Amino acid sequence: MSERTPLPLVFDEPRGRKKPPPHLADLTPDERKARLEELGLPGFRAKQLSTHYFGRLVDDPAEMTDLPAAQRDELVAGLLPDLMTPLRTMEADRGTTRKTLWKLFDGALVESVLMRYPDRATMCVSSQAGCGMACPFCATGQGGLQRNMSTAEIVEQVVAGARALARGEVPGGPGRVSNVVFMGMGEPLANYKAVMGTVRRLTDPTPDGLGMSARGITVSTVGLVPRMLQLADEGIPVTLALSLHAPDDELRNELVPINTRFSVDETVDAAWNYAKVTKRRVSIEYAMMRGINDQAWRADLLGDVLQARGDWGWVHVNLIPLNPTPGSKWTASDPADEREFVRRLEAKGIPTTVRDTRGREIDGACGQLAATES
Ligand code: SAH
Repeated sequence: MSERTPLPLVFDEPRGRKKPPPHLADLTPDERKARLEELGLPGFRAKQLSTHYFGRLVDDPAEMTDLPAAQRDELVAGLLPDLMTPLRTMEADRGTTRKTLWKLFDGALVESVLMRYPDRATMCVSSQAGCGMACPFCATGQGGLQRNMSTAEIVEQVVAGARALARGEVPGGPGRVSNVVFMGMGEPLANYKAVMGTVRRLTDPTPDGLGMSARGITVSTVGLVPRMLQLADEGIPVTLALSLHAPDDELRNELVPINTRFSVDETVDAAWNYAKVTKRRVSIEYAMMRGINDQAWRADLLGDVLQARGDWGWVHVNLIPLNPTPGSKWTASDPADEREFVRRLEAKGIPTTVRDTRGREIDGACGQLAATES
């Protein structure tokens, strides 16, 4: 193993940043009403605006014909300010994978990816501009954290995908977003409040929110243990994914530097607690890196670490073929090693899947979101 360089771990975003303008999707239904009243506008219009935004997925004020023309601009400016601009959309898999590069109000860049399958459509969203977790194999981790995104900035990515699907812009006919995964840029549990706000907006019934099932939402984390414990107590059964990548502290300290704060044991305990409290099976993410974490003995150790918490089906392992990032010294595992890894986990009774690598050629696959404008 190479010498480990000390990596800065950034938990708090830089101070003194300007915040994005408040938006309907940041607010609860009562707060939306209150905001309009503060602006001297009729509060009951908030419901109509919510119906346009979450229910009809309208973005052009001209289509909001139930709002009085004289007040429309003010109402829209008050609750539906422009938060982000799509700079570029790239397509792969015959248009069923679409990556969008967004420019936020302050120039920060983030990316989201829409992946349509025969039976579902998944939006992979960013929760931070950049990321402070500094995992050395992840493209986003290399640039550090710029800032947390607001709830509405995260929700907007999902709504944009929902619009594209509803309008039949994605091959396969009109459709809906069925799944949302917080696997884009950023560490969602480091932006806990805005991410929980997003989960509420996504799951609140239309027109207050998008009316999605919590089960279709996956929050993926490096393992911020106190936040994982907190999430278990929210009473919203989202799926939790833990990016483990190594079953032993020595290697995980290098691959996921936050491990120097929360050990493998503490982190897996928190994942197990999540499964116990929510009765939702936790997903262990494991990016397979050739000669680094893909040895047969590590598969056995991973199996033991997970099984030590019980064999009641609380967990499954999702192996991700590493997407090598530019300049990285790591490559994906040999297929034979990957098969052996799967075999050893399954031999211990642990359900194991290998993730597909959609969107690779547009750098839209896991860990490749770097948001450079070139
Ligand atoms: N911060 C969250 C979300 C990040 S992205 C987390 O770490 O879970 C979602 C997944 O992609 C994580 O499991 C992450 O470890 C993985 N990932 C990052 N870079 C990758 C790469 N180059 N190849 C494959 N998976 C990668």
